[in-house]
Amino acid sequence: MTDYTSALDAVYKRIAEAEQRFGRKKASVNLLAVSKTCSADAIRSVAAAGQRRFGESYLNEALPKIEALADADIEWHFIGPIQSNKTRGIAEHFDWVHSIDRLRIAQRLGEQRPAGYPPLKVCIQLNISGEATKAGIPPEEAPALASAIAQIPGLQLRGLMAIPAPSNDPTLARIAFRQLREISEELRDHGLALDTLSMGMSSDLEAAIAEGATLVRVGSAIFGERAAKSG
Ligand SMILES: *Cc1c(COP(=O)(O)O)cnc(C)c1O
Repeated sequence: MTDYTSALDAVYKRIAEAEQRFGRKKASVNLLAVSKTCSADAIRSVAAAGQRRFGESYLNEALPKIEALADADIEWHFIGPIQSNKTRGIAEHFDWVHSIDRLRIAQRLGEQRPAGYPPLKVCIQLNISGEATKAGIPPEEAPALASAIAQIPGLQLRGLMAIPAPSNDPTLARIAFRQLREISEELRDHGLALDTLSMGMSSDLEAAIAEGATLVRVGSAIFGERAAKSG
């Protein structure tokens, strides 16, 4: 079995160094280990090294892994595109959803969250780079969608998520991350209790932490490069 401990430690170290360098409070940035395409064994070994939050993008791929790891203390985050026929499985098996971009999907998740479970913690995904192909709502739609989602029983709106357009220019990434933080501040000014900014991945987590990320979603820097498909 591959030992992921040193890769995981290197990511923790990058996070801690970025917190210090950009004046963020110590331990104010959480790590979400993105385990899509990884085996349950790989996840188990990263969990054994002390990592608790894991992110998955495809429900059908995630369910057998969640079942195989039922004995481990893992918090599961859904971060992929959501088709309406997948909401029940997500509502029943995940703790968080980062990728909400339609009210109807949020309503279904709330309705399908089993009674007696804690509310599903959710983030709204924003398209901050204006790319037609990327998921997420345009920033100007965020206030209305956030207010509506905050009213849905079974859900707890916690924050915003974005995946900026890939770029070799770290300045551009920072501008996009800053925009997400500013939108989140506006929503807070409107009375929404948001505490989560889900932004930054393996290649740009420092830029995201500089701009206020509270949770970075890191896959390949922990688990190694993924095979080309599935992304
Ligand atoms: C795959 C994925 C990540 C992780 O990307 P890496 O570059 O491997 O760190 C983060 N967020 C989302 C939404 C993803 O789909």
